[in-house]
Amino acid sequence: MCRICPNECVLKEGEISKCNNRKVKDSKLWTMAYGNPCSVNIDPVEKKPLYHFFPGSRAWSIATAGCNLACLNCQNWTISQLSPDKTRNYDQMPEKVVDGAVKSNCRSIAYTYTEPVTFYEYAFDTALLARKAGIKNIVKSNGYINPDPLKKLCSVIDAANIDLKAFNDSTYLRLTGGKLQPVLDSLKIYRDMGVWLEITNLIVPQWSDNPDEIGKMCKWLSENGFKDTPLHFSRFYPTYKLEQLPPTPAEILKNAVNTAAAEGLKYVYTGNVPGDEVSDTKCPSCGNLVITRQGFRVTANNLREGKCNKCGNEIRGVWN
Ligand code: SF4
Repeated sequence: MCRICPNECVLKEGEISKCNNRKVKDSKLWTMAYGNPCSVNIDPVEKKPLYHFFPGSRAWSIATAGCNLACLNCQNWTISQLSPDKTRNYDQMPEKVVDGAVKSNCRSIAYTYTEPVTFYEYAFDTALLARKAGIKNIVKSNGYINPDPLKKLCSVIDAANIDLKAFNDSTYLRLTGGKLQPVLDSLKIYRDMGVWLEITNLIVPQWSDNPDEIGKMCKWLSENGFKDTPLHFSRFYPTYKLEQLPPTPAEILKNAVNTAAAEGLKYVYTGNVPGDEVSDTKCPSCGNLVITRQGFRVTANNLREGKCNKCGNEIRGVWN
């Protein structure tokens, strides 16, 4: 039995896990992901998206094949829904990942694209080495993980962007194959363990675009201590099993931003809306633009030691 995520797979000899990268051989549970990333890139940290964590820095980004959810709208389904023996992989043990990040002047390593929960051991060992080399660690995750392994992971992770994919149990199950509550629990653990947290809500037309549900989600975030946590509303584009749907109308994203602001969330952004994004960071106290961005590029940073350069209000984040 694997206890890493709420799927809690129980496998017989020769069987492969739900996340496609663990199997039982000789009565032992093995990971096929360790040291076998199928994607290795250098990304701006803003691409995760993380807007309040070393803005303008670069993240050495890795993924292995496999995911513990099966979202109908997955953008990376050609790697997330496969097993590592079906993808072309690099040979990168943790030492080599850290070495690549150091030599490329990356501030961080990001465990991303697919689902780091499913390459847990590889991510953990790499993160531990990275810490020793002065490199920060980031997860871009669906937050679908059990509390104990998450707490252990948090001991080596500096920042996380977690997808909150809907705010309705039934939608969560039909859209992703997972449940909502474990993700909400994970958000609290990340925050309480001192990991810098940002949240992404990708609004899928006809699935997660109900204004009442978006309102309930913002209210929950507000009432549960996430007012300082940046929230990114992301635009859906037709993909994978939802190719027949239109992109998210810009109006819905704007309404979502207004809803979140009305609930007191201080840092609300939109993503995947080229040319029309809400991507600048404003001081919640005086409205001064403290960080401006174009796409994933930081065009101005007016923070002074983490404070607004006009009124001196603290802007929450990890800045240097
Ligand atoms: S991480 Fe993979 S093997 Fe483990 S419980 Fe989750 S889906 Fe199953």
